[in-house]
Amino acid sequence: MNIFITSCRVLIFSAVFLAGCAFHPTTQPTERWNQPCEKCTVGVSSCDKCILGVGNFAKVTPKLWRGAQPTEDGFRNLEKAGVKTIISLRDEHDDYDDFSQLGGANTLKYIRIPMHAWDPDKAQLIVLMNVLERALNDPKSYPVFIHCAEGKDRTGYSIATYRMVSQKPQWDADNAILEMYDFGFNEI
Ligand SMILES: [Zn+2]
Repeated sequence: MNIFITSCRVLIFSAVFLAGCAFHPTTQPTERWNQPCEKCTVGVSSCDKCILGVGNFAKVTPKLWRGAQPTEDGFRNLEKAGVKTIISLRDEHDDYDDFSQLGGANTLKYIRIPMHAWDPDKAQLIVLMNVLERALNDPKSYPVFIHCAEGKDRTGYSIATYRMVSQKPQWDADNAILEMYDFGFNEI
């Protein structure tokens, strides 16, 4: 997919999103997606559907995983689970301290695209979609783990945009928005 098409789709999505259509759809979902694990405790227990030290975690696809801010152990466990690229959407925090704690064995690639929880920025979303497209087509770069602070708002609308841009026509706005709410997206 070229940048122009990505840009157009992101602009369409942003228009829908910013016009207030992100309120909870009344339709039933026609897609299925992994839910965040509710029975495990971040940093204390985990099952095969979550990662110790990473809250609000799920695999969006086998190549793209999502979650809240990992703890230092969380980063280690993501790396152990095979993650190759970390994308942070946080504007108020970088992961450099956590990364320096990981030491020389750390092989993770790190990309930071700062976003605001309440104000999706079209240009940043276009950058993110192009970064994802490249990473998800490169076996040396995936799985990709994308996170913000809580894995709800910035990660939520970014994953929704990804679904609509890259998983058309199956994924429409209603499914993408329903998935956002399952991960705790906050209505403005
Ligand atoms: Zn679990």
